[in-house]
Amino acid sequence: MESRESFMTLVLATANQGKVEELREMVKPFHLEVKSLADYPEIPEVEEDGTTFYENALKKAKTIADLLHLPVLADDSGLEVDALQGEPGVYSARYAGEHGNHTANNLKLLQALQNIQWEQRTARFRSVLILILPGEEPIVAEGKCEGWITNEIHGSGGFGYDPLFYVEEYGKTLAEVTMEEKNRISHRGKAMRAMLQHIERLKR
Ligand code: IMP
Repeated sequence: MESRESFMTLVLATANQGKVEELREMVKPFHLEVKSLADYPEIPEVEEDGTTFYENALKKAKTIADLLHLPVLADDSGLEVDALQGEPGVYSARYAGEHGNHTANNLKLLQALQNIQWEQRTARFRSVLILILPGEEPIVAEGKCEGWITNEIHGSGGFGYDPLFYVEEYGKTLAEVTMEEKNRISHRGKAMRAMLQHIERLKR
C-alpha cells in the first residue's frame, strides 16, 4: 500500500470540467491525489478581473493556495481571433454574457465571423499555467495552439470553442480528436509539458 507521504495532493484551481479532465490526464504519471474546486464547494468563486491571462491565473492560484496551503495549479486560457482583434481573449468564458455557456459563446463567435473568408479566420488558444508550491515563488508556463475558426460546429468532444477550432495537424476540429491527441498539440498541453519537471518534485 502507498504511504501517506508518497501520495501528495495537487489542487487544480478550476471548476471547469473540461480543463480538469485534460490536466488530470497529463499529471497521471505522477500518481498524485488530484483535486479540483469541485472538491471544495465552500470556496467562493474567484473573480477573474485581470486584463491578461497571467493576472487571472496568478490571482486564482494565489487565492486558492492561501486558503488551502496545498500545492495549487491554475490555468487561465482563452481564444484570440485575429479578425476580431484578439477577442474574446480573457473574456472567452463569458463572451456571450453568462460565464461558461459554451453553446452561446460558439453561436456568438459564428455570428461575429459570418462574413469573414476562410483565410482571415485564423485564431489561437493561449494558456498560462501557474503552479504554487507551499513556501515557494509562483512558477509560470505558457503555451499556444494555432488554428482556424470553422463556419459551423464539428464534433462533440472537448469543451468550449473546440467544435469551431480547426487544426491543420489533424485536419479536424479539436472536438473531433481524442483527448490524447488534443493534449499533444494544445496550448494547455504545451504549457503543461513545460511545467511537468516542477510537478514531478511533488512525488518526493
Ligand atoms: P477561464 O480560463 O476559466 O477564464 O476560461 C477559459 C475559456 O476559454 C473557456 O471557458 C473556453 O471558453 C475557452 N477555452 C480555453 N481553453 C480551451 C480549450 O482547450 N478548448 C476550447 N475552449 C477553451
